[in-house]
Amino acid sequence: VPIEDESPLRVSVIGTGYLGATHAAAVAEMGFTVIGVDTDPAKIAALEEGEVPFYEPGLPELIRKNIAAGRLSFTTDLGAAVAASDIHFICVGTPQQASSHAADLSFVEGATRAVAAALTHDGLIVGKSTVPVGTAQRLRDMVDAMVPTSLHVELDWNPEFLREGYAVEDTLRPDRIVIGGASPWAEGMLRRLYGPAIEAGAPVVTCDLPTAELVKVSANAFLATKISFINAIAEVCEKAGADVTTLADAIGYDARIGRRFLNAGLGFGGGCLPKDIRALTHRAGELGALQAVGLMQQVDEINMGQRQRVVELAMSTCPVNILNARVAVLGVAFKPDTDDVRDSPALNVAAALHLRGALVSVYDPEANATAKRSFPTLTYAASMEAAVTGADLVLVLTEWPEIAGADPEVLGRLVAHRAIVDARRCLPAQAWRDAGWHTATLGSAETE
Ligand code: NAD
Repeated sequence: VPIEDESPLRVSVIGTGYLGATHAAAVAEMGFTVIGVDTDPAKIAALEEGEVPFYEPGLPELIRKNIAAGRLSFTTDLGAAVAASDIHFICVGTPQQASSHAADLSFVEGATRAVAAALTHDGLIVGKSTVPVGTAQRLRDMVDAMVPTSLHVELDWNPEFLREGYAVEDTLRPDRIVIGGASPWAEGMLRRLYGPAIEAGAPVVTCDLPTAELVKVSANAFLATKISFINAIAEVCEKAGADVTTLADAIGYDARIGRRFLNAGLGFGGGCLPKDIRALTHRAGELGALQAVGLMQQVDEINMGQRQRVVELAMSTCPVNILNARVAVLGVAFKPDTDDVRDSPALNVAAALHLRGALVSVYDPEANATAKRSFPTLTYAASMEAAVTGADLVLVLTEWPEIAGADPEVLGRLVAHRAIVDARRCLPAQAWRDAGWHTATLGSAETE
C-alpha cells in the first residue's frame, strides 16, 4: 500500500468552476487538506479571497470557513498542487464542441496530462467531469504510458451528481457515490475521503470505468426525457382542454413515476443536460447503439421546440405589434437558484423576441450580470418593478420564488397592458385573472 492507511489524505482539485469549487470546499469541510487549481487567474484570485465568481447558495461561507481553518487554498500552479497531494480530482469542463454534438474533451485531456506529467510520487487521479463512455480508459492508458513504472499511479472515475443551487448540500450529502475502475487500494482511499457521507448513509456503487461514465450520462438523459415527456403530454393537454399540472400531480403519486422533473413549460437548459444528451447521441451513434440515438434526438427536439412555442405564444398574446412592443422578461437563469445562463431557454426566448424587434427589459434576481455578458444588447433592470414598468407584455421564464410570488395588483399598476405569459406554469393563474390580467401558458387551455 503506497499511501499509509492512517496518513491524512491531501487532495488537489483541478478546475474550480461550479463543480470543482464546490467539491474542493466540501472535501475540505470533511477535514482534508485541499488545493484548488485553475488556469483562470481571475477565478483563483477571487476564490483566494473567499469570493465565489458565480452564485451558489452557502458556497462562499463554506470556502471562507475552510480557508480560515487552513484546510483550503487555491493556486494556478498545478505542479505545486500535484506535488503536495495524494488524490487529484479532475473537475474541468466538457462543453459541447462548437461544430458538432460531441463533447469537447480537450480540457479533460489537457488537465489529466498535466497532472500525470507533474507526478513525482504515488497518487490517485480521479475523474469527476461528465465524459462520453470510453474516455476514462483512454485517459488511463495515456497516464500509464506517461508515468514511470517506479510510481504507483491509478486513474479512476467518480462522476458527480450535484445540482446547481443545491451544490453544497448535494456534495456533503450525496444520494450515491459511484466509484468506477478502482483497485482495492484506490477504493480504500476514496472510501476514507467520503467517509462522513458514507457513514451518513450514502450508498456506494463500485463498477468498471465505462459503467461509471454511463451512470452519470444516463441519469441526465433520464431527467431530460422526463421533462420532454411531460412537455409532449402538455401539447395533448392544450389541444384536448386538459390541465397538465393536475395530470403531473396525479401521475406523480405513483412511486414508479414520481412528481419531480414533471413540470411542463419552457424545458431544460444549463451547462449539463443539453450538452450531455447531445454527447450521448453522438457517442451512441459511434457505438452503433441506434435506439439511444433516436430517443435522445427526440428528447432534444421536443425541448428546443418548447422555446419556439413560447416565442409564438408571446407573439400571439402580445396586445400590440411585437415590433417595438415593450416586453418584460422575468427570469433569465436556466433555472432558479443559480446565475447560470449557459444554454438558458429563458435567455433564448428573450433574445428571439429582441431579434423580432421587441424592446426587451430583463430582470433576474441573480443572473442579470451573467446574462448581460452573453447578451449585452438587451436592457437589464435592477428590479422586477423596473422591468415591468410600461410593459405591453410580461413573460415569466424562470420560476424564482420572488417571481412566482409577485403581486398581480402591484405589477398591474405598473404595466401598460395586463398581459402575461407564464412559461413555467408557476403563477396562481386565477389570482392573476382576478386582477384583470390576460394570462397565457403552455399545457392547458388556460388562456383568457
Ligand atoms: P465550469 O466551466 O464552471 O468549470 C470548469 C473550470 O475548469 C473552469 O474554471 C476552467 O477555467 C477550468 N479549467 C479548464 N482547463 C483547465 C486545466 N487544464 N487546468 C485547470 N483548470 C482548468 O464547468 P462545471 O460546470 O464546473 O463543469 C465541470 C464538469 O463537471 C463538466 O464535465 C460538467 O458536465 C460536470 N458536472 C457539472 C455539474 C454542474 O452542475 N455544473 C454537475 C455535475 C457534473
